[in-house]
Amino acid sequence: MIDHDVLIIGGGLAGSRAALSVAQNYPNLSVGLISKVHPIRSHSVAAQGGIAASLKNVDNDDWLTHAFDTIKGSDYLADHDAVQVLTQSAPEVIIDLEHLGVLFSRAEDGKIAQRPFGGHTYSRACYAADKTGHAILHELVMNLMRLGGTIYQEWYVMDLIYEDGTNGTEVKGVVAYSLETSRIEVFRAKAVLMATGGYGRVFNTTSNDLASTGDGLCLTANIGLPLQDMEFVQFHPTGLYPVGVLISEAVRGEGAYLINDLGDRFMANYPISKNRMELSPRDITSRNIACEIMEGRGINGGNYVYLDVRHLGKEKILSRIPFAREEGLRLAGVDCIEHPLPVRPTVHYSMGGIPTNINCQVLGSDSQPITGFFAAGETACVSVHGANRLGANSLLECVVFGKRAGEKIGEYVSDRSMPKLVSRPYLIDAEAKLKRMLAKQGTSRIADIRQQLQDTMTEHCGIFRDDQRLKDGLQKIQTIRDRYDHDLLVDDRSTVFNMELMQAIELRSLFTVGEIIMSSALSRKESRGAHSREDYTSRDDANYLKHTLGYFENGQVKTSDRPVDMSLQNIDRDRFTPQERKY
Ligand SMILES: Cc1cc2nc3c(=O)[nH]c(=O)nc-3n(C[C@H](O)[C@H](O)[C@H](O)COP(=O)(O)OP(=O)(O)OC[C@H]3O[C@@H](n4cnc5c(N)ncnc54)[C@H](O)[C@@H]3O)c2cc1C
Repeated sequence: MIDHDVLIIGGGLAGSRAALSVAQNYPNLSVGLISKVHPIRSHSVAAQGGIAASLKNVDNDDWLTHAFDTIKGSDYLADHDAVQVLTQSAPEVIIDLEHLGVLFSRAEDGKIAQRPFGGHTYSRACYAADKTGHAILHELVMNLMRLGGTIYQEWYVMDLIYEDGTNGTEVKGVVAYSLETSRIEVFRAKAVLMATGGYGRVFNTTSNDLASTGDGLCLTANIGLPLQDMEFVQFHPTGLYPVGVLISEAVRGEGAYLINDLGDRFMANYPISKNRMELSPRDITSRNIACEIMEGRGINGGNYVYLDVRHLGKEKILSRIPFAREEGLRLAGVDCIEHPLPVRPTVHYSMGGIPTNINCQVLGSDSQPITGFFAAGETACVSVHGANRLGANSLLECVVFGKRAGEKIGEYVSDRSMPKLVSRPYLIDAEAKLKRMLAKQGTSRIADIRQQLQDTMTEHCGIFRDDQRLKDGLQKIQTIRDRYDHDLLVDDRSTVFNMELMQAIELRSLFTVGEIIMSSALSRKESRGAHSREDYTSRDDANYLKHTLGYFENGQVKTSDRPVDMSLQNIDRDRFTPQERKY
């Protein structure tokens, strides 16, 4: 058994920031970080456009306006206490990142440059060209290594240990296996932080990397804990057609136009977006693009529209959005200096996740903290994004709540002794699970089953949803899951980097997450943010201004709810009372 005071699962921005925070503030604590990829290859490295903060380097911004934009953007579902922490801490965490060595792009006067982003009133996205995640993650991981954090790279966490302890049922550690050697280990800790990122791979077109399979969500649901607001799946408006990889919102921030087959800047034709045009929030922009395509105004009647940057000129394109140009060239053979880029919405981000309070403690279905268990980053739902996230607020969430998680966990474990744990039964169980998986000799290949699941999710739980489509989708998932359980074929028997074995386990996560997304979507009979019901087209605050909780009970997904925190109304009632959303 391997012991650490603090165990962090995930080496992206949230996990690395949390681990670094423990190492910086509590040098006497031992911190271990487990990641199924090398931390620097975590999905966060791909983040492009920026990280929001009211630094006031360009405009006369302030945290309350940032909070208002975030809550309006969330279609009023975000928790005010969490948004207050996010937006008030933002300037400080950016300065802190700079002190850690992050090289932000600069304005003429030498201050950190800031660009506009959808749904934000002011230019508040700080950036490093269009490689912001890369710039931040490298410094976090380097600093963590410098301060002696232990990194278990290419270890796959397959189970959470949740059993009786001195304070009722507690999280005491995890079971993981090394992808390199297949060695299984029990890791025990006084506190475990889940920072395993999103689940984009549940759908067939996504901007997310291959590792975004929602494992932390599945591990949490497997021990009977709820997941919150899982129906809110963010479709980013500008996935490069046909591959789905992201063309960053920074491109629209720099002034790109969205054009339909008639050559119109169609955002002007929708009352909800006619003022902010291409810089409207993502839920609205994605829906408008989907409508253009459905009504036959996609380019040549096809499944995409154009993102046009030609008017920005070569120099600006090369200096501000070089990566977007590179992607267009490499993946679609289009040079955006000369031609518009073909784009359509792509699954991008999970607004929902593991429910936590503002100290990153995971909450059970009774809203009480679970002993020894924390979560941060995209896998968590604290909730700062509610029904729709604004661009540049996710990196911010990872850094603000990652840092805060590290500080709070450090405090928390100073009063807690190492939990009592017998590792042997867990080792035997894990070994048996891997053996069973390797023994699967059915006829259905992992890739085929995964594709069927992804197609079902996309067809039945896409941008527009309705009762019948969701119910049919759930039934299809159960049939496909049956094939996974009883007819899977795992060909590769090797014990060194057996990627097929890992994919077979990841597929379990995709099913669990997919089923909870669909069930949560079925239970919310209104349209809010990214959740658009064709059979309930309006927002219904009287019945649904509340968070959805989805969890497994006797093998079935059940749903319940919990209230939204509205505390900012005490500061400015007029501003923070839910209103119709227009841009
Ligand atoms: C292309 C793209 C561009 C983006 N650009 C922006 C932007 O400009 N601004 C912004 O605010 N947001 C942006 N986002 C969103 C943002 O990048 C992510 O939400 C954020 O980086 C998530 O960070 P994270 O630390 O929560 O998770 P991740 O970075 O996804 O890290 C998850 C970690 O968990 C580990 N892990 C997962 N499962 C297991 C397991 N079973 N065992 C062990 N380890 C495991 C992984 O190895 C990884 O280290 C972008 C997203 C995409 C897809």
